[in-house]
Amino acid sequence: MTREEIVDIFTATGAMLTGHFRLTSGKHSNRYFQCAQVLQHPRYTERLCHELAQRFAGQGVQTVIGPAMGGILVSYEVARALGVRSLFTERENGKMTLRRNFTITPGEKVLVVEDVITTGGSVAEVIEVVRNLGGQVVGVGVLVDRSNGQANLGLPTEALLTVSVETFTPEDCPLCAQGIPTVKPGSRQV
Ligand SMILES: [Zn+2]
Repeated sequence: MTREEIVDIFTATGAMLTGHFRLTSGKHSNRYFQCAQVLQHPRYTERLCHELAQRFAGQGVQTVIGPAMGGILVSYEVARALGVRSLFTERENGKMTLRRNFTITPGEKVLVVEDVITTGGSVAEVIEVVRNLGGQVVGVGVLVDRSNGQANLGLPTEALLTVSVETFTPEDCPLCAQGIPTVKPGSRQV
């Protein structure tokens, strides 16, 4: 897939919004991502995850794993494309863990995936879970890296889309300066 095709899917489904957003943090931004909007369409999810899977083909991946919630569908579809198992981690009392009798065998080659990374914090925790069980993490695959390339996980990382999302304080916001009204992401106006 070309970058243009990928951007088109994110835009057409409403997963990538451009505008003037008022974030929960109080900051303003020019872009907003809601990956669930693309993941609600199985045929797009399948295409995107197939593309991501291709980038790790031939590396002997035995298992794909992602953090709940966003990583579950991505893990499942990437695993389907690679013909391997799909697992997910989830938080228990705030700590990322592997539950539900899921297992990782020492030496097992594992690909870690996620829908969107901002700081890479959740992905780093999944990597630690896998390594603590003796698994060998071969790389990280994400649909969207919106960290501006700042999330360095120390592993080969593939992102279908790398974007810079600018954030501003209301005082310094160029969109405010232009008198453009803000919208709160997730509200019906968006
Ligand atoms: Zn603003």
